[in-house]
Amino acid sequence: MTKRPLHPRSLAAQALGKIDPLTKAVVPPIHVSTTYIRDEDNAYSSGFIYGRPDNETVHEAQAVLAMLEEAKAGALLFGSGMAAATAVFQALSPGDHVVASKVMYWALRAWLLTEATRWGLKIDFVETDDLARLKEAVKPGVTKLIWAETPSNPLWTITDIAAVAKIAHAAGARLAVDSTCASPVHTRPLTLGADIVMHAATKVLNGHSDVVAGALCANADDEFWNRIKTIRKGQGGILGPFEAYLLMRGMRTLHVRQERQSASAMALAQKLSAHPLVSRVLYPGLPQHPGHDIAARQMEGGFGFMLSVQVSGGEAAAVKSAAHVELYKRATSLGGVESLIEHRASIEGAGSPCPPDLLRLSTGIEDVEDLYADLDQALKAGHG
Ligand SMILES: *Cc1c(COP(=O)(O)O)cnc(C)c1O
Repeated sequence: MTKRPLHPRSLAAQALGKIDPLTKAVVPPIHVSTTYIRDEDNAYSSGFIYGRPDNETVHEAQAVLAMLEEAKAGALLFGSGMAAATAVFQALSPGDHVVASKVMYWALRAWLLTEATRWGLKIDFVETDDLARLKEAVKPGVTKLIWAETPSNPLWTITDIAAVAKIAHAAGARLAVDSTCASPVHTRPLTLGADIVMHAATKVLNGHSDVVAGALCANADDEFWNRIKTIRKGQGGILGPFEAYLLMRGMRTLHVRQERQSASAMALAQKLSAHPLVSRVLYPGLPQHPGHDIAARQMEGGFGFMLSVQVSGGEAAAVKSAAHVELYKRATSLGGVESLIEHRASIEGAGSPCPPDLLRLSTGIEDVEDLYADLDQALKAGHG
């Protein structure tokens, strides 16, 4: 009889089930050594030489993420989401053309506009959810990378990964997807044709707002992936072992957290849609969201934990409402077990597509009735 393959949630819960051979511990030890003994014949039979290129705790966390993303070439962990994302762009060559989502994580957009252009990359920002516009922007043979974030900050725009992968590949380009807000629980971009998946593991993968980390995953162990490995090693971008351990601990509960957070986000989106002080709710789970049909196809088991609301009283009322939350925490970042609220326009600055009356909500695992009651009282106070 062939053995039934285990569900990813079972494998993640046990961090792939590795038992420490020395003590039989079910939680693996944290490997902190920066250096490793050479064999008498001068070889390194363990495969470990030095702490900047490699670390066993990092390997273990990478294996869990690679399993979750179904990444055949594996995963690489970095010291932050930005370190992971920028390694992909640095693996390109001067003069290469990049097409990136117009609605995307603001700090990466800022880096692309400043540092990446200084490195000689040519970058166009387009709505990657508009396939006709995207096709126009892609230059066959010249465009080397399409970078799409989906659902994308802070409007939760949905990009059709399978369709964009086809456009990229027809032009001889790769597709990289920032899948931070979908997480592998809802979407596995590599199975839909993407070449690289990026995560700000700082967010829901770790889930406890106590680690800054980033990750890349790939299917093909090709020259591009090896350049990314060389960049991580050369620039010292590897995640530290303590953070890798915490991230692995976080990923053990990823499925239960994500399921609760997405279910609560959906309930909040529905209730807030009927709230008299909310003019618009942006959430891909709502049928009126422009990306809903694609999201329903490409996201499994929920539409994620992120939503935004536009407040009926405009920017001043949005800022004032955020000032009155009691249970929600008024802070940047997302994906933790605690719910966060943020007036995004004041963070993103000039050039951002974020409307000034928008509040971004990261849904945690608190009781959803408590969350709604807090938003309701804050909106009322914000319009008082
Ligand atoms: C936070 C975030 C990043 C950057 O990750 P850091 O760990 O903060 O460097 C990139 N993309 C998205 C979607 C994010 O939310």
